[in-house]
Amino acid sequence: MSLGAEAIRRVGFIGLGHMGAGMCGNLVRTGLDVTAYDIDAAALAGVVQQGARPAASARESARGAEAVITMLPAPPHVERAWLGVDGALAGLEPGAVAIDMSTSSLALGKRLAEAAAERGVDVLDAPVAGSPTRAAAGKLGIYVGGPEAAYTRARPLFAAMGEEGRIFYLGPAGAGYAVKLLLNLMWFIESVATGEVLSLGVLAGVPLDRLYAALVDSPANSTFLEEDVRSVLDAGDYSDVFPLRLVTKDLGLAVDLAREVGLATELTALVEQIHRRARRAYGDDAGQISAIRLYEDLAGIRLRLEPGT
Ligand code: NAD
Repeated sequence: MSLGAEAIRRVGFIGLGHMGAGMCGNLVRTGLDVTAYDIDAAALAGVVQQGARPAASARESARGAEAVITMLPAPPHVERAWLGVDGALAGLEPGAVAIDMSTSSLALGKRLAEAAAERGVDVLDAPVAGSPTRAAAGKLGIYVGGPEAAYTRARPLFAAMGEEGRIFYLGPAGAGYAVKLLLNLMWFIESVATGEVLSLGVLAGVPLDRLYAALVDSPANSTFLEEDVRSVLDAGDYSDVFPLRLVTKDLGLAVDLAREVGLATELTALVEQIHRRARRAYGDDAGQISAIRLYEDLAGIRLRLEPGT
């Protein structure tokens, strides 16, 4: 009998890092039968303590599962986990759903969907927005592309990991990856723009507190300016919850996307280079808004507000 008609009860989960550990834990807590796998034994032990069964390979985690989820760093890891030796796809029965929640590439997603179709398996791309804290709290934003029937079937899994009202079904295969890359791109553009504008203003002689208040009151305001950059301005915290190695990975994927669709995107290419420069200067694990530090160093200033400003 095809698995396609059944409600999803058995789930495989691969990739138990900063994000995956919390997401997997939330699936276990909803009463699903979850078999987990990670190449890092300590990461696997963490979710076994939360009630998941351990698997010795990606393929084993998929055996008997109606759905398998991957939450891995980048496309090479995703490719290995699904299509490599002892990969998850080979363990799935016809009718199962393969779900990649990593921020990955449309090109790889397409290859995975082609290989999965030969086994009668549907593929969803479902990357997320949010921090490890939000992952643990089941409050992620989730952006889904792929067959709508597979989305409807997997919806209870997304509801266990995501925040109500922030789970978006976006249409064809690849739409989830695209939207995730685009919202990150917008945010990374804003961080460069903010670093440049604030440093320029201070060198022009405007006190930072007055410059900041005027910008927040203006049509140029944004949630980045009003909220996200405050960690730098208030405490010199460049937000290492998301490291520059992942920022530059996502920007590289956005550049690839532009190349695939054939659009000239000079700004995207430039912003990618600026974040790569920051990664070179401050390290792979430096915080996601470290591009602002480049401008501070160039200007010879620190963008800091007095407490209570
Ligand atoms: P992470 O590096 O903390 O975790 C990845 C996990 O995958 C690790 O435990 C690693 O051992 C495991 N792994 C690597 N290759 C594997 C393989 N072949 N088989 C099994 N396990 C393997 O990464 P993360 O921060 O959890 O990010 C995961 C994805 O989520 C990335 O695509 C990232 O861009 C995206 N994301 C992260 C955040 C964040 O704040 N960290 C936010 C939104 C989206």
